Amino acid sequence: MAKHIFVIGGVLSSLGKGIAASSIGLLMKKMGYKVVMQKFDPYLNVDPGTMSPFQHGEVFVTDDGAETDLDLGHYERFIGIPLTKNSNSTTGQIYDTILKKERHGDFLGKTVQVIPHVTNEIKSLIRKMAEGNDIVITEIGGTVGDIESLPFLEAIRQFRMEEGVENSLFIFLTYVPYIKAASELKTKPTQHAVTKLREIGIQPDILLCRSEKLFNDEIKSKISLFTNVQKSRVINAVDVPTIYEVPRIFMKANLHEKICEHFHLQQIRIDFSDWDKIIDNIKNPGKEVTIAVCGKYVRHQDAYKSVGAALVHAAASHRLKLNIRWVDSEKTISAKDIKAKLHDADGILVPGGFGVRGIDGKISIAKYARENNIPYFGICLGMQIAVIEFAKNVCGFPNAYSSEFEENCEHPIIHLMDDQRYIEMMGGTMRLGAYPCKLKKDSLAYKIYSKCEISERHRHRYEFNNKYRKIIEKNGMKISGISPDDLLVEIVEIPDHPFFIGVQFHPEFKSRPDKPQPIFRDFVKKAADIR
Ligand code: GLN
Repeated sequence: MAKHIFVIGGVLSSLGKGIAASSIGLLMKKMGYKVVMQKFDPYLNVDPGTMSPFQHGEVFVTDDGAETDLDLGHYERFIGIPLTKNSNSTTGQIYDTILKKERHGDFLGKTVQVIPHVTNEIKSLIRKMAEGNDIVITEIGGTVGDIESLPFLEAIRQFRMEEGVENSLFIFLTYVPYIKAASELKTKPTQHAVTKLREIGIQPDILLCRSEKLFNDEIKSKISLFTNVQKSRVINAVDVPTIYEVPRIFMKANLHEKICEHFHLQQIRIDFSDWDKIIDNIKNPGKEVTIAVCGKYVRHQDAYKSVGAALVHAAASHRLKLNIRWVDSEKTISAKDIKAKLHDADGILVPGGFGVRGIDGKISIAKYARENNIPYFGICLGMQIAVIEFAKNVCGFPNAYSSEFEENCEHPIIHLMDDQRYIEMMGGTMRLGAYPCKLKKDSLAYKIYSKCEISERHRHRYEFNNKYRKIIEKNGMKISGISPDDLLVEIVEIPDHPFFIGVQFHPEFKSRPDKPQPIFRDFVKKAADIR
């Protein structure tokens, strides 16, 4: 039977529960266990895909086309295993399932209640993950003490009753603040958070205590005494310069051994050398490279979480010191603004986005990159922008646009497809998840990937308008990636430019610290080389 690790958070939000859970996942995987991860989000939204990036950060997309919480991005990056829609459930989705069952008469007129109906549904989602896996890591979103997370905590309390202590492990992430005025680390918030958790019937097995400064034995003893957690199981998760060092810190504290001990699992020696190399490259880089990421959500960097991560992986693979400059495309339109913000950028990346806001700035930025031979990497909307700019300023269509921004524009270079095959494929909505793409042999794309067929993840509604393929190509923009049925333009590039590529997909979702995504890898290298 699979062993279940539950990761719960207390004291504060934003303590890095997702990173802690992912780090545990990596250690278990490195011991040879088959790991899967899952997140429960306590909010009522049924579709995380429709949540604002300003408020909620990036929407992460899985191969099977689920739009999920960004923590799944951390999971995939750490454990290196593609997840599916089963790995993310919201309270809204759980209630939706239950209410549909109720309408269908499945409860035979019984009173439908949080306990047992909601908690049963949660437990069945947890059990579903166990099939074919050794270790299931379930992160409970929110902070202990919130009303919203109560049903999840109740469900895992019941789960332990049903499955036994040896098959379930509660790991609680808390915070130990450092109070400057007293020059002291304070354990009280952790004590109270554990009390709160125990009130609902959960005694944590292991504590991960975040702190700014390393704490000593005395603090450990105090926490142990007040929380009823063995001292050896109180682990100091001290702040580190890069998130990729977190598993290293846990390993040093023998967290993996404690987990194995609890589950009566065999302890296997971990070879961490590949990750140590990545950490070392991030912490001790050589030459600098500055990449300008130009979008409209830049004030909320969580909105571009995977793009930022992919740039970090790429830079680390070349041992480069990465500076990401976040450029607000709504405020960067005039030639003067562009020059001021981009003149010393080594590469320009325009990420995905929706809606017309900030579009004119992005078009001017793409023009600037094209005309000044600055490496350009356009992702999804960033690719569409590159094509529109090229049509406007090179092909002689000043009114080129996307029908997303102006429904009846004169030259909809990017549009909603009305091809029947496309509509059937899409069910009329977004193109989501992994799609294959054929690469042309004599292209930058082929040079980057070194293969003829690739698969990348999509999340968009609009497509390159095939009516303009010929004229665009005639003027010097190459279509180097297309869908196997020849229907969809997936990659464009400008061969007369040192590095100019636009992709209709989101390659950032598949970048891993130990396997940087190839376009990011080569884009960052090119930017550094021509600096
Ligand atoms: N808004 C564009 C579309 O829907 C691009 C989406 C994106 O960048 N993810 O096609």
